Amino acid sequence: MLRIDIITIFPEMFRGPFDVSILKKAQDRGFVEIKVHNLRDFTEDKHRTVDDYPYGGGSGMVMKPEPIFKAVRTLRKEKSEVILLSPSGDLFNQKIAEELSKKDHLILICGRYEGVDERVKKIITREISIGDYVLTGGEIPAMVLVDAIVRLIPGVLGDPNSLKEESFQWGILEYPQYTHPREFEGMEVPEILLSGNHKEIRRWRRKEALRKTFLKRT
Ligand code: SAH
Repeated sequence: MLRIDIITIFPEMFRGPFDVSILKKAQDRGFVEIKVHNLRDFTEDKHRTVDDYPYGGGSGMVMKPEPIFKAVRTLRKEKSEVILLSPSGDLFNQKIAEELSKKDHLILICGRYEGVDERVKKIITREISIGDYVLTGGEIPAMVLVDAIVRLIPGVLGDPNSLKEESFQWGILEYPQYTHPREFEGMEVPEILLSGNHKEIRRWRRKEALRKTFLKRT
């Protein structure tokens, strides 16, 4: 079973996303155990301080190293992957999601303010960004990682075939999908999909997937 520990100053943000649908079922059925920890529980001063002014001046606050080190040292095990969410990390993609879905234990550290003290790099094993833009905190990126990773754990999705044909699995985007009704506001479902000819349908889907990938990703 995959275990995921999340370190944040806003644990309440995780209520909701992890409590519905596939993520909820995956936890209920024992495929993954997700625990959210309040970084302030790892502080030692009366005010439970997690941030301080930046050395050298400049705007905003920086997250202090001590509580983060204490949290990681308390939670980590022998083979833990300790991930800092950060705009300067490796760009998250399906390949990294697959890699992480095979681990035993992930620790996700969510930054806030202007980011975390550089010395935190010493205690992490990798740094991941969810895209080239800046968010207010690492919580939403952590949710993105968890969502993408958990659905790849064998058994989590009802139909394992749904993973096979998906966008990125083969480096190409997914073919267009249609459901009922057959005609909607003048738009018809492509005839080929009604033909029952599975070989031709596969060909059509591959062609459309390649077309889409070429138009949108090159
Ligand atoms: N001053 C920093 C941004 C800090 S944003 C900089 O210029 O790089 C505050 C926190 O939000 C970060 O520590 C990180 O944990 C999280 N965060 C913001 N954007 C992110 C992104 N694109 N991917 C992952 N984490 C991000």
